[in-house]
Amino acid sequence: MSYTALYRKFRPTDLSQVRGQDHIVTTLRNQLSGGRVGHAYLFTGTRGTGKTSIAKIMARAVNCEHPTENGPCGECDSCRSIADGSSMNVYEIDAASNTGVDNVRVIIEGVNYRPTLGKYKVYIIDEVHMLSESAFNALLKTLEEPPEWAIFILATTEVHKLPATILSRCQRYDFKRIGIDTICSRMQELMAAEGRSADERALRYIARKADGSMRDALSLLDQAIAFQSEGELSYDETLEVLGAVDTEVFSRLFRGIINRDTLGCVGIIDEMASQGKELTQFVTDFVWYLRNIMLLMASPDTASMIDISTENMVRLREDAGLSELDSVIRYIRVFSELISQIRYASQKRVHVEIAFIRCCEPRMAIKDPESLTDRVAALEKRIEEGNFVSFAAAPKTEGETVIRSDVKMPEAPKALPDDIRKLIENWPRVISDCSNDTCMIKNCKPVLSDDGKLVLYFPAGDISARLLGNEAQHRELEEIFENYTGSAVEFAIKNSESDEIFENGLYDLRNIVKPGTVNVPIDTEENTEEI
Ligand SMILES: [Zn+2]
Repeated sequence: MSYTALYRKFRPTDLSQVRGQDHIVTTLRNQLSGGRVGHAYLFTGTRGTGKTSIAKIMARAVNCEHPTENGPCGECDSCRSIADGSSMNVYEIDAASNTGVDNVRVIIEGVNYRPTLGKYKVYIIDEVHMLSESAFNALLKTLEEPPEWAIFILATTEVHKLPATILSRCQRYDFKRIGIDTICSRMQELMAAEGRSADERALRYIARKADGSMRDALSLLDQAIAFQSEGELSYDETLEVLGAVDTEVFSRLFRGIINRDTLGCVGIIDEMASQGKELTQFVTDFVWYLRNIMLLMASPDTASMIDISTENMVRLREDAGLSELDSVIRYIRVFSELISQIRYASQKRVHVEIAFIRCCEPRMAIKDPESLTDRVAALEKRIEEGNFVSFAAAPKTEGETVIRSDVKMPEAPKALPDDIRKLIENWPRVISDCSNDTCMIKNCKPVLSDDGKLVLYFPAGDISARLLGNEAQHRELEEIFENYTGSAVEFAIKNSESDEIFENGLYDLRNIVKPGTVNVPIDTEENTEEI
């Protein structure tokens, strides 16, 4: 016996079964009962929220011989022929599939023929934003003066890609993401219908992970059920099947950030990557963990809004006592941005590492005033502990300065190679040209090596040097540099041996050539195009 996926098996067949879109259901119900059906509908919203399901219900309802208040009766000839796909009145077109695009035009042009049976021809065009230009034109012509028997239901996840001419001719319905409670109760119904029970925490985890999409939730539930074919669907095994990470790992990461333990955090990421965890999901779950900490910090009464076991709650409370609310909000912002960055990125891991470093090292985020809170907190802690040693280790008098053998101070500006001079003159622009992957160079000190090469010098222990040593990052920097010099610039990336050497401003090329004195980049092709 073949297995039918839950979301197909339990696809709503009338309006009463649609969940989480009450505003739309009510409007459509009124239109159907009042006989005021429109000719063009636009259903927009995130995937898995019921757009296609409602479109199909509408298609059956308008042709149904005995419509009910919930739409189609499901029993008349028309309802049945549409359900089994033999009706000539309903056309479902998936604009996203490559083959369809040119056929779409032909199908739409067939609209001029009156239906032989039933009242309406319904055209459901899924992912309508993918239509070719000629198909859009054909559609537009029809939408301007639709025959009385035609109904178009356009569905899209990306409404901003639709031409305004199309938008202005449709009744628009915005489908909302479905809430966790709504998804949970629907899953409970379906589990009961399947004769299975489930740990509520498992369902809540799935609902949360589905992020507002009923279809995603049911697919995940399918996976979990497939793994545990008998008995109650348990929480632990659900986590296991879905590749989720135990809360304890998030707690370790959070404490790593608080203790500025960059290496520890990167180590945990390495662990996760080698266990084959999906990093986007991992970061999403971590944001959720931070959100829980934030709620607890904001008010202890929020504990009931947190889905977590009692033992984990103890640890969560401890974590909440370790930091400041402002800092946690900043971390949430950093990691939320990260989620959208890495969704389609090829170097996910590097992005994740950078985000953790940004949190561990607030000085990395100099443009972000909120990171100042962290820096002040760190200073306060040092003062409390009487740890002033590194404050006192400021540059000594000139005579005492340790001159490092591999780094030299050019005697006069003229001793600088031309390309390096051009680069330093434009240094602020170079930094602003850097992407998120390379922006760490703003923390480096450009210096000159003994053999006249450029060295980007980072503080002792700063992990940026390692990240920038990555091939892709190195290449990006090369390209940016070349835009300012017109030729390839050789450069090395190094960590200084101690903070003391780094803090000393002597070797910094920016003290020799003042950046910003010359602001016009040389005329490479790319630059002239921009100007
Ligand atoms: Zn019917």
